[in-house]
This record gives sequence, C-alpha cells and structure tokens, in this order.
Amino acid sequence: MSGRTALVSGGNRGIGLAVARALHAGGDSVAVTCRSSPPPDDFLAVKCDVTSKQEVDDAVGQVEEALGPVEVLVANAGITRDALLVGMGEDDFLDVVDTNLMGAVRLVRRTLRGMVRRRHGRIVLISSTSALSGSSGQTNYAAAKAGMVGFARSLARELGRRDITVNVVAPGWIDTDMTAALPEELRKEAAGAVPLGRFGTPEDVAATVRFLTSREAGYITGAVVPVDGGIGMGN
Ligand code: NDP
Repeated sequence: MSGRTALVSGGNRGIGLAVARALHAGGDSVAVTCRSSPPPDDFLAVKCDVTSKQEVDDAVGQVEEALGPVEVLVANAGITRDALLVGMGEDDFLDVVDTNLMGAVRLVRRTLRGMVRRRHGRIVLISSTSALSGSSGQTNYAAAKAGMVGFARSLARELGRRDITVNVVAPGWIDTDMTAALPEELRKEAAGAVPLGRFGTPEDVAATVRFLTSREAGYITGAVVPVDGGIGMGN
C-alpha cells in the first residue's frame, strides 16, 4: 500500500482532513487541496478553488511534480446554500452544483489520464444521504450530490477494465463546521432521528474512504456506501 500518491480536495478541515490523516496513517503520500487556510498537518498543500478548471489543472500538476501521478483521488470539497426552492436564487443553485458536482468532475478528469496509463486507480467521491432521500431546503445540494452518483457509476463502467474503481461515500449527519452552524434544537432533533443516536465523526467517514481505496476493496466499484448511523437503513 505504501508509496501511493493520494490527493484529497478540501483536505484542510472537516471530513477531508480526517481522510487525509487516515490515508497518511496507511502509508500513502498525501496531498490536499485547500482554498483558504492550509491544513494543520504537514501534508503537501496546494491552493485550489475547485470551481476553476485552471486552478484544478495547476494544483494537480504541482502534486504530480512533487509526489508523482495521483493513484488515489478523494473528491471531498463541498458547500451548502440551503433555502426552499421558491426562495432560492439561481446562483445558489449553480454555485452548489459547480462546487460539489463539477468540482469533482474537474478533479477526476485531470487525474484520470495518469490512472489510465498506469492501469490502476482508486476514486472516491463524497456525496450525501441527501442525494438518496432528498432533503427539504437542499434541492440544489441533493441534485448535485445525486449527480455525483450517476457520474461515478457511469465512470465505473468506463474504467473497470483498467482496474480503476469509482465509489461514492454518502455521509449522514457528521460533526464538522458544515453542521456546527445548525441551531442546537435542530441538531438534537436530527441526532434523535439517527438509529445510532448521534452525529458521526469525520473519522467515521474517513475509515470507510480508506477501506474503499485499499487493495482489499479491489472488487468494489460503482457502490454508494452510506456512513450515516443507520438513518437511510443501507440506502
Ligand atoms: P466543511 O464545511 O467542514 O469543509 C468543506 C471543505 O470543502 C473545506 O475544506 C472547504 O475549503 C472545501 N471547499 C468548499 N468549497 C470549495 C471550493 N470552491 N474549492 C475548493 N475547496 C472548497 O465540510 P465537511 O467536512 O462537513 O464536508 C466535506 C464533504 O462532505 C462535503 O462535500 C460535504 O458536502 C460532505 N458531507 C458532509 C456532511 C456533514 O454532515 N458534515 C454530510 C454529508 C456530506 P475552505 O476551508 O477553503 O472553505
């Protein structure tokens, strides 16, 4: 396992940082993209806003130059802009799709050539249970995250013969900055609806991502793996 180059977008905090740490602990050479502040850890950090094709191209180029071709890609960078559709501006819809879905697409397209050449690769996209069950106030986010599922499954069919797996992880409620902003009352109600009775940790998600990138997961592709405390009961 050691010696692989792994790239995690949005690896400066939250779930992305936990994923970067888990891959590093498994022996990978890890690079993270960050848009604002760098990660607290000593990973190679490259500046990149995933809504810019140029920045994605440059960032992956820097990683390849420093660590070699990317063998493991985790497309994690994401945002929410919640509102009911009747009150949602078109920009809020487009920004969420551009970051969550198109950001992942740009990263995959830029790293894919190296994987195809090596006839090996591991791609994991971070989606959400909202993609599968829908979520009031999140039509933009759920549409973008559901788009990632169709993208991943189509790509899995295109790349399977080259030993490149493409999987999706769908977290439920996870304790990060993204959910910290929710009112305490809503957090309590949300946790109460989770069969395991709590929000998950970034490390809960990271452990699943790490497994999906492992040699042992080599016969899993096109899967959507929920890490949601049972809220979707496997869906
Ligand atoms: P955070 O808000 O803690 O972190 C989001 C990360 O995405 C940050 O690193 C942020 O960078 C990065 N990011 C956002 N926009 C861009 C952009 N345009 N270009 C580059 N990087 C960007 O969120 P989480 O850690 O909670 O979320 C990580 C992923 O998990 C997201 O895709 C999210 O949708 C998904 N998820 C989270 C859930 C949760 O409950 N927390 C549930 C289901 C899915 P910066 O620091 O520069 O802002």
